[in-house]
Amino acid sequence: MKFCNSILETIGNTPLVKLHRVTAGLPCPVFAKVEFFNPGNSIKDRMAVKMVEVAEQQGLLKPGGTIIEGTSGNTGMGLALAAVIKGYKCIFTTTDKQSKEKVDILKAVGAEVIVCPTNVEPEDPRSYYSVSKRLATEVPNSFYVNQYDNLANRDAHYEQTGPEIWEQTDGKITHLVVATGTGGTITGTGKFLKEKNPDIKVWAIDSYGSLLKKYFETGEQDMSEVYPYITEGIGEDFVPQNYDMSVIDAFTKVTDKDGAVMARRITKEEGIFVGYSAGSAIAGLLQLKASLKPTDVVVVIFHDSGSRYVGKVYNDQWMMERGFLDVKTVKDVVNGRR
Ligand code: PMP
Repeated sequence: MKFCNSILETIGNTPLVKLHRVTAGLPCPVFAKVEFFNPGNSIKDRMAVKMVEVAEQQGLLKPGGTIIEGTSGNTGMGLALAAVIKGYKCIFTTTDKQSKEKVDILKAVGAEVIVCPTNVEPEDPRSYYSVSKRLATEVPNSFYVNQYDNLANRDAHYEQTGPEIWEQTDGKITHLVVATGTGGTITGTGKFLKEKNPDIKVWAIDSYGSLLKKYFETGEQDMSEVYPYITEGIGEDFVPQNYDMSVIDAFTKVTDKDGAVMARRITKEEGIFVGYSAGSAIAGLLQLKASLKPTDVVVVIFHDSGSRYVGKVYNDQWMMERGFLDVKTVKDVVNGRR
């Protein structure tokens, strides 16, 4: 019989899918590493399980223990799956900016979720960082994961995502494009690929309202770059320890509108039902495309699934209220012209 011993064994080995329409003007092929094929529907399953396994090995997580994390949802889903299979409890803190779907999904897999305000400083006792840190000291037999500074995050991508892309492209990849948040995906994957071929270029996609790009350029955490934004999963208001900026060759920032509009285009034009940050990644690639040549082979990470954004990016009303969708398009839909 051919079977997996648990759902955790289905993590990884996601497909690489060629894009045809959204990257049409580019001189070279572009492939998407479609990470919603993971059981928790995002790339974060990889690092979540790795962080749990390392914590077990280090004796930080003991049988019957409680996993605590501040998570926007995708990491929480991966941690919750690991917890179900391995017999742990989960408490997550998240912000009121995140999709309601994400919170409900976490609850569905047995996690307790505490929603905290977005627009407060990280040091504020109400922030989701502060609340999760406090819980970790109060809840007995608990382990605070801290995906930002826990280096098992980037190690998962060095061990899995990087080798998979190298093999799937027969070592022909020339550019890796990653929308970046904690830095785990870009640092781990980029480091592995550059060790295989130092000529590979690694392009980071940031969001307006985040300080990551400016930090890459100046080495300073410039808080004047930081303001509230809508894009989910990418950008930060500090620089997590998972970053090794030396693996990154270029950084660009994408607007909330461009990311959302492109996510919808990827779904409509490629048939790949992607999350918000996949839209940002392709929009960012198009901003950086000038240096691409016909011999190049580009791989873009698609981090998660559109199913978590049905009430947002995939809702016309939500898009219109933010000025992301012009009224004419919706009228055309209503009148059956599109
Ligand atoms: N996109 C989405 C949807 C995510 O959830 C995340 C994780 N925060 C990222 C991109 C960025 O990945 P990383 O944290 O590894 O930089």
